[in-house]
Formats: sequence, structure tokens, C-alpha cells
Amino acid sequence: IEALRLESVDKVYGTEDNPVRALDSVTVGLAPGSFTAIMGPSGSGKSTFLQCAAGLDQPTRGRVFVDGAELTGESETALTKFRRQRIGFVFQQFNLMPTLTVYQNVTLPLRMAGKRSDRDRTTAMLRQVGLADRMGHRPSELSGGQQQRAAIARALVTDPRVIFADEPTGALDTKSARDVLQLLRSSVDHLGQTVVMVTHDPVAASYADSVMFLADGRSAGTLDKPTAETVAE
Ligand code: ADP
Ligand code: ADP
Repeated sequence: IEALRLESVDKVYGTEDNPVRALDSVTVGLAPGSFTAIMGPSGSGKSTFLQCAAGLDQPTRGRVFVDGAELTGESETALTKFRRQRIGFVFQQFNLMPTLTVYQNVTLPLRMAGKRSDRDRTTAMLRQVGLADRMGHRPSELSGGQQQRAAIARALVTDPRVIFADEPTGALDTKSARDVLQLLRSSVDHLGQTVVMVTHDPVAASYADSVMFLADGRSAGTLDKPTAETVAE
């Protein structure tokens, strides 16, 4: 079963008189344990792709499947439950809860998913991202790189089928960006995660197994085994 499948997905915003076709007949299938970068100019549909693929928005036409389960046509309640149990999110601005400690932030998705707040698992995740000694800190007491590593632990703690990362290195310095990309890479290599990452950065894209290019809402080709040089061309 593919980890993610979009079949002939259209997303049209705006009005009937003035439609904006954000996605136009997009069909993709991503294998479990793959790391895919989504690239394209501003306005090419990257965010819309992520929103539709992650069940945060419904396509206008076409079908979306995550791990074989169809998201299209599901109720908002069902989608929220599905996201909590099967999908991990990483954002450019980290989106940690400022009033909670790092430990509480990482364990939160387990509680939201109705799972036991598993101390061993949470601690193991924090160790894996190098934050074992920062568990009691608030996000504001961490560097940007540390906050994003906490966000990755948070995304992984429920063992989701797919992790969607939206410009995860956009707010980070070069060194922190590499650490974060390395963590995403090893979640694919060692945990068998599937990662879908929107990025502008050719270096970030070079950590992926393949790059899917979007242009005007359409798939404009893919590049396997990307390097920073080949992506930039
Ligand atoms: P990207 O992430 O690549 O910058 P987006 O997916 O944000 O592209 O946008 C794709 C197109 O859809 C753009 O033309 C954008 O203006 C339009 N768009 C995105 N979201 C909305 C919305 N909520 N309402 C109307 N148009 C939108
Ligand atoms: P709800 O707001 O319906 O309770 P959640 O807060 O459970 O949904 O969100 C489910 C997942 O989707 C969370 O990981 C959350 O961070 C993410 N999410 C929520 N809103 C957005 C958004 N606008 N864009 C991207 N991800 C989002």
C-alpha cells in the first residue's frame, strides 16, 4: 500500500466567475519509507498540496489516500481523529505550545490521540533528538534548532504513517537546519517513516530521495536522488 496517494486531485479556490486552480489534476503515489521534497515557485500549489494530502482541506475533485485509507469525503471529525492518530506535522515556526514544557509538548499528541501518555516513549523520542537534558524547559528557553527538534519528537511520538513538514528549516541557521534534516532522514532510514517536505532550499531537498516539482498547480516532473546542484538547475 502506498503511504500517500493522490488521484487526479483538483483544488479550486475563489468563485465560479473567478476560479483559482491551485491544484490541477495532480496524481502521485509515495511508497512507505520514502522521503519526498515538494518544490516550486511561490503560488505553485505547495501549501495546497500539503493541506489536501494531510486531510486539512478537501480537494474539489479527485481522491486522497493515506496508508490506504481514503480521506476524501470524510467528515471533519473523522479527519481530525485520523490526523491525530496517523499523521505528524512539522511547521516552519515550530508551533510548540509556549506554556508547556518540552516534555509536555512532545507527549501532547499521544493524549490528543487518546493514547497513554507514555513516559518511556516520550523520553526516548527526546533523547533521539538530543533534548534529554531540556525536557523541563519551555520553548522560549530553547534555540530555534532545539525547538524544531522538539517539534520533530512531537511529530514522531505517535508513530504516524506520514510526516508532513512545511518549510521545516525556513527559520533555522545552516547548522540547525542540517541537524533537523538529518533527523528527518534518519526517521525514514531507521523508523521507516514516510516524510513529505515542502522546501525552497536545494540543500534541504538534497536530503530527500526524490523531488516533486509543482508549477501552476500541476506536477512538473520529479528528480530522483537529488543533489543541491541538480535541484538548483
Ligand atoms: P504555494 O504554497 O506554492 O505558494 P499555494 O498552495 O499557497 O502555493 O497557492 C496556490 C494558489 O492558490 C495561489 O494562486 C494562491 O493565491 C491560491 N490560494 C491558496 N489558498 C487560497 C485561498 N484560501 N483562497 C483563494 N486562493 C488561494
Ligand atoms: P483541530 O483544530 O481540528 O482540533 P488539531 O489541532 O488536532 O485539529 O490539528 C491536527 C493536526 O493538524 C495538528 O498536528 C495540527 O498542528 C495540524 N494543523 C492544524 N491546523 C493546521 C493548519 N492550518 N495548517 C497546517 N497544519 C495544521
